[in-house]
Amino acid sequence: MSTNDSTAKLDFIRAIVADDLKTNKWDGRVHTRFPPEPNGYLHIGHAKAICLNFGIAHEFSGLCNLRFDDTNPIKEEAEYIESIKQDIRWLGFDWGDRLFYASDYFEQMYQYAVQLIKKGKAYVCDLSAEQIREYRGTLTKPGKNSPYRSRSVEENLDLFQRMRAGEFEDGARTLRAKIDMASPNLNMRDPVMYRILHATHPRTGGKWCIYPTYDWAHGLEDSVEGITHSICTLEFENHRPLYNWFLDELGIFHSQQIEFARLNLTYTVMSKRKLLQLVRDGLVRGWDDPRMPTICGLRRRGYSPESIRNFCQLIGVNKFNSTIDIALLEHCVREDLNKTSPRVMAVLRPLKVVIDNYPKDKVERLEAVNNPEDPSAGTRKVAFSRELYIEQEDFMEEPPKKFYRLAPGREVRLRYAYFVTCTDVVKDKNGQVVELHCRYDPATRGGDSPDGRKVKSTLHWVSAAHALEAEVRLYDHLFRNENPDDVEQGADFKSNLNQNSLEILTSCRVEPSLAGAAQGSRYQFERLGYFCVDPDSSDTKLVFNRAVSLRDPWAKIQKAQENR
Ligand code: ATP
Ligand code: MG
Repeated sequence: MSTNDSTAKLDFIRAIVADDLKTNKWDGRVHTRFPPEPNGYLHIGHAKAICLNFGIAHEFSGLCNLRFDDTNPIKEEAEYIESIKQDIRWLGFDWGDRLFYASDYFEQMYQYAVQLIKKGKAYVCDLSAEQIREYRGTLTKPGKNSPYRSRSVEENLDLFQRMRAGEFEDGARTLRAKIDMASPNLNMRDPVMYRILHATHPRTGGKWCIYPTYDWAHGLEDSVEGITHSICTLEFENHRPLYNWFLDELGIFHSQQIEFARLNLTYTVMSKRKLLQLVRDGLVRGWDDPRMPTICGLRRRGYSPESIRNFCQLIGVNKFNSTIDIALLEHCVREDLNKTSPRVMAVLRPLKVVIDNYPKDKVERLEAVNNPEDPSAGTRKVAFSRELYIEQEDFMEEPPKKFYRLAPGREVRLRYAYFVTCTDVVKDKNGQVVELHCRYDPATRGGDSPDGRKVKSTLHWVSAAHALEAEVRLYDHLFRNENPDDVEQGADFKSNLNQNSLEILTSCRVEPSLAGAAQGSRYQFERLGYFCVDPDSSDTKLVFNRAVSLRDPWAKIQKAQENR
């Protein structure tokens, strides 16, 4: 383990693990698990939990299980299971041969329940769900005992067995733990362990018509697998006494539960229920819409696994719920893609430029640097010719003071090519600028002027005859508000959707080196940001998603703090 001697820098969970290793609490074992419920796609919040659990196992030479918590037969789908496996692998983690399903333990859980009944610690209750809620009391009012609480062990065993055998209707009976209806912790007020549900389970089929509740099942799953450190989010803190009670009453292996704060991000929602609504209502193009905070959405958008892992490391783990600025995540994406992405030139909103003094049929292949951050990436040749495209917004007929780009009579540099001066502007009948005429200075080949003449800006461009057509999708935050749940009365989070979160540009031009670019490959379009080839791309039409622009508000915030 590399971090062994730097305990001071460890987060509080890793500090516990390191300490347990020192005291040999678990016979030198470190065994964690990531236990998703297969009822949706993974999101960036799950990435935090994945990096934590798999990361700790890796750093401390331990093991991490992948366990599907498939105790609820209704909401689970095979599609989710496959996507979850794919996303974890993509993030760079591996569960080896330790893929488990909570449903594999149904028989074992049933036997444990029988054990509790025999001890007089669980009973079959005939109250309806609503009555159970009434009897439960509130934070300020103790609960009332169920009239079925004093059933004999024999009667409970008989009824529970008949529940399993399918003799009763859905909701007719439950199995409850017999703990304390006056406990200040509501979770301890005789919680339900089993409910009757005549439903087919994706894995166990029609074998069961009673299903364990999450509270009953979760600690048992950890116990069966011998998990040492059961890491979960803060909302389970006051369920811990219940899990402990179950394990103590059964006298079985006892994992240590450690709670940490879940990840929240500005301008997005993180609950699977809400993400599912966006998908079902057609408000996004699917789970992998590049605006979604899902792992598959971020992947399609062009975020790299490294950038997500770096983000998770930067935010660390702690005990207090807070919201992270999404600009930090985007910053991590820029940092990583800056190091790894080849540079290319692309024009999103093309404006034609004719270089009048450049020979008609001449084509030059000019040398361009592939990645200034990585000399080993080398160079490539880019075609230059008499007719080019530049970005519409790089020209203004009447430039305001701080606009240094192209304007009538002004000279600028075309990246890797020449200095050009705008000599004429062609407009259509509506007065729109549709074409520019320029003259170039042959002495400035490569973009340097031999006489030391300075220009104030450098523009990207593509050769009109050589460029490929492309569609480019630009994204903004999915929500208008930092906190999408901050809504007017009567409205819900969807009322905060940003109506302008997607802009599709269909007549972009990219340099020819991008022909045949593989789906998922990432590039920096010079001056425009980082882009990723979308799965919608085909041989006839390239489609790109912008992962992030180049402007990094987070870096600015950081600088300002350093200068204070
Ligand atoms: P949601 O509220 O989005 O439905 P969940 O907690 O019900 O999420 P699970 O599939 O049960 O989703 O989560 C699997 C694991 O991921 C859990 O251990 C949970 O603690 C963790 N997890 C889920 N959301 C977050 C988050 N936002 N930040 C950190 N960890 C999370
Ligand atoms: Mg859950």
